[in-house]
Amino acid sequence: MDTDPSSAYIQFEDKDKISGFEPVLGGELTEKAVWVDESVCIGCKYCVHVASNTFIVDEEYGRSRAVRQNGDSLDTIQEAIDTCPVDCIHWTKFEDLERLDGSLNRDSFQSLGKLPKMSKH
Ligand code: SF4
Repeated sequence: MDTDPSSAYIQFEDKDKISGFEPVLGGELTEKAVWVDESVCIGCKYCVHVASNTFIVDEEYGRSRAVRQNGDSLDTIQEAIDTCPVDCIHWTKFEDLERLDGSLNRDSFQSLGKLPKMSKH
């Protein structure tokens, strides 16, 4: 069924229905964004096997990252979230993605599945 585009401008009248995950406009067409807290990820790849159009495991760090926001259905992404053994995949607002990504200090990450970085001195 086609969705009426004007529904994007319909705000929730019942404030109790607002979860905080609604997109900027808060209407029916708004979608959630997904974000992986790479500092917690253990690189098991479960999420990649479930939602392979959304998540990849970064070659350098061996941790998962959401590389697309429209690659899989919300149900499939939710299934990936449910399979994560360390609960490090989160629904968030689109406008928070940049801030969350900036909060990760990847330089401090130990690469999973690789030998520790060694100093040459
Ligand atoms: S399921 Fe969770 S812990 Fe495993 S790779 Fe995906 S985000 Fe990381």
